[in-house]
Amino acid sequence: YPDLPGKVAVITGAARGMGAVFARGLAARGVHVVGGDLDGERMSTTADAINDALKSTVDEPGRVVGTAVDVTSAEQHDRLAATALAEFGRLDHWVNNAGIFPFAPAAEISPDQLGGVLRVNVEGVLYGAQAAARHLGPGGAIVNMSSVSATRVRRGRGAYCTSKAAVAHLTESLAVEFGDQGIRVNAIAPGYIDTDMTRWVKEDPVALRHAVDTVPLHRIGSPEEVFGALLFLLSDSARYITGHSIAVDGGSRH
Ligand code: NAD
Repeated sequence: YPDLPGKVAVITGAARGMGAVFARGLAARGVHVVGGDLDGERMSTTADAINDALKSTVDEPGRVVGTAVDVTSAEQHDRLAATALAEFGRLDHWVNNAGIFPFAPAAEISPDQLGGVLRVNVEGVLYGAQAAARHLGPGGAIVNMSSVSATRVRRGRGAYCTSKAAVAHLTESLAVEFGDQGIRVNAIAPGYIDTDMTRWVKEDPVALRHAVDTVPLHRIGSPEEVFGALLFLLSDSARYITGHSIAVDGGSRH
């Protein structure tokens, strides 16, 4: 992807999990990254670790700047954009990755749980996209983290699935409107990916067996395997793709 080096990307939820792998992967390809996370301390540590590791292994890596951000605040997204412009003088791509995963049977979902997951997973994506639209130029790309849960029913995950269905739909709405500015908006819909969010799957033999048995490739995925889809969607190779979700799920149909 020769167009990516020198570009600047914001990634939310980049202190750990997929966001951290995305930040490292982009920086290894010469993209500068502003990583924002609710856990500001861990975000700084992650940014330092990535910069240190790439310094000695990659020619001309991008730099990762870590900052504390709560994606439920519209203003804080503008601060992320301002940081990108102050540090790197430009802003090209925006990855709305931060998300939370509350687990509760439908009959027991509390107003706080539903409100919380909608605020982070849906409002967080909307405010991020709105801030991106104010700063990205033509050719800019936004990628939202949806999930296979956007289109499938999962026992105990009604609130989360609802939030990801909203992300998938929002992605289409944003793509229609931001297309006027030449900005593309797509989503990635991962299946089971090995991060802190899915630690419970690995710790529960029944859940793990179910996860593995229902995936044609017979294993859960790694954040690095999701990164390939992100790289493609941000790059100029995807310049005629907008409003879509790419599933990265080992072929899961369940
Ligand atoms: P993770 O829990 O490992 O990391 C999520 C990060 O988001 C954390 O660092 C957390 O501090 C941050 N965050 C949470 N709330 C925030 C807020 N209000 N403001 C800023 N940052 C906040 O999760 P992950 O597995 O890396 O997931 C990343 C994204 O991918 C999420 O949107 C998740 O829903 C989605 N996803 C994950 C899986 C999976 O199997 N892991 C599958 C499908 C979709």
